[in-house]
Amino acid sequence: MARYLGPVCKLCRREGMKLYLKGERCFTEKCAVVRRPYPPGQHGQGRIKLSEYGLRLREKQKMRRIYGLLERQFSGYYAQASGMKGRTGEEMLGLIERRLDNVVHRMGFATSRPQARQLVRHNHILVNGKRLNIPSYRVKINDKIEVREKSRKIAYITQALAQAESKTPPTWIDVEKDKLAGTIKTMPVRDELNEPMIREQYVVEYYSR
Ligand code: SF4
Repeated sequence: MARYLGPVCKLCRREGMKLYLKGERCFTEKCAVVRRPYPPGQHGQGRIKLSEYGLRLREKQKMRRIYGLLERQFSGYYAQASGMKGRTGEEMLGLIERRLDNVVHRMGFATSRPQARQLVRHNHILVNGKRLNIPSYRVKINDKIEVREKSRKIAYITQALAQAESKTPPTWIDVEKDKLAGTIKTMPVRDELNEPMIREQYVVEYYSR
């Protein structure tokens, strides 16, 4: 599946908040949201008043950009979630959160989702003992995700793990950092998915308008 290849800091500036798309740099003074806290482009510093529609559009774009998805795949998640029993917004967030690239990031093996996606694409990740290089693979309860033996010494995985020390690990994944592995215990917990803040209800309203 294709992915966005343009400048990512512009995406954060457009949404007016850090979306953490560049790993370590996002936590430094070099972050573009810190240095230029206004939207990109010629009229970026002008007055912006969002319409009701604009508000929902921005929320949809923000959520899509956080997870690094293009429109077709993202709206596909909405279509699937709207056929499910629970609240559409929460179901949609849950489906996206269970993507293998996101799970690898949540486990602390990569500093950003794009980096986690690369780990998956480059065959560094095993799921239930087998190599799996599909970032959109949807993890299930009891799936065991681990970094392949040969890849355990990769410098950026070690750096990511060191950085993850300061973060609270997700309660829905049982992470064994020393083994570079983890097991899915439950479905994602909605309350833990708030950094950056996502208002999934607006996303649902955007698609159901
Ligand atoms: Fe760039 Fe990261 Fe800052 Fe976003 S949060 S503007 S990706 S450095």
